[in-house]
Amino acid sequence: MKKTVVLDFDGVIHSYTSKWKGTTVIPDPPVEGIKEAIQSIRKQYRVVVVSTRCFQEGGVEAVKAWLARHAIAVDDVVAHKPPATVYVDDRAINFDGDASTLLDKIKAFKTWQQK
Ligand SMILES: [Mg+2]
Repeated sequence: MKKTVVLDFDGVIHSYTSKWKGTTVIPDPPVEGIKEAIQSIRKQYRVVVVSTRCFQEGGVEAVKAWLARHAIAVDDVVAHKPPATVYVDDRAINFDGDASTLLDKIKAFKTWQQK
C-alpha cells in the first residue's frame, strides 16, 4: 500500500490570495504548478487533502468541486489530519530539533504569500 502524503488546501493547492471569504467560497486559482506536482506525487504516494473547511457544512463538497473544476485529482478530502509520511502546509515550521529557537521562529513566521 502506498504511503500517505497530506497536503493542506488553502495556501498549498488553492492559492488563497483573496484570504478567507467563507467555508464554501473558494475564489482563487491553483498555486502555479501544483496540479502537475500532485500528479507526480500520486504516482508514488496516496495524496490526502486536509482542510478546516471540511468541519463546516458544505465544506468537503466545495473543496471537491473546486478540485474537479481545476482537474486536480486527489485520493481523499478530509477535515482531520490522518497519519502521514509528510505533511505539506503553508502554516508549518519544520522542527529541526532545536527547541531553543522555536518561540522566535513562531513569532517571526510568515506564509509564502506574506513574504
Ligand atoms: Mg493553509
